[in-house]
Amino acid sequence: MKFFVDGKTITCLCGDIAFQPDIEAVVNAANAFLRNGGGVAGALHRAAGPGLEEESIPLGPIKPGEAVITGAHRLPNRYVIHCLGPVYGVDKPEQGILSSCYREALKLAEKHRIRSIAFPAISTGVFGYPPREAANVALMAVLSLLPGLRFVGHIRFVLYREADLTLYINTLKELLPGQGEEGKEGEKCT
Ligand code: ADP
Repeated sequence: MKFFVDGKTITCLCGDIAFQPDIEAVVNAANAFLRNGGGVAGALHRAAGPGLEEESIPLGPIKPGEAVITGAHRLPNRYVIHCLGPVYGVDKPEQGILSSCYREALKLAEKHRIRSIAFPAISTGVFGYPPREAANVALMAVLSLLPGLRFVGHIRFVLYREADLTLYINTLKELLPGQGEEGKEGEKCT
């Protein structure tokens, strides 16, 4: 599904964050030490190869809500932006920290004149953030920053579960009534 707002495009699809070849920067749901891991970090590091850790580890540790940028190595992208989300129930205030991930990632993207960026649902895996609340925080954060973006023109949310895709689409339909367009690509999780 595609949404048009402020001259920018927001897309939501079901897929693998490590396979978004038409996107310039992909966002990693990183750990503090910017090492390989499970979930999103595992998928990105596996596809990128060992060069990604060689570049990322010296930039760590990072604090919850912070982001750093590296090259994408063997990924089909130009950059990886690594964000550390809050562990739900531990890093507080969760909402402020999660918003900060999206804000800091977009700030880095603008600094590097990046035109397109793909986000996973940060913190909703092993970090335990309830998906509905996380989707609201992510979408509100991104929508509030859209008017200030000069370079980023396409923001994609890559969801891994059907329920998350539905959640993002329904939330965006509520927030942006009449601004969505149905598409076929990635609308179902296989
Ligand atoms: P965190 O540690 O921030 O919770 P995870 O990587 O454990 O991060 O999970 C974040 C979200 O990403 C979860 O909703 C999970 O289902 C989803 N996910 C896992 N693997 C992938 C992938 N390869 N591409 C996109 N999303 C993924």
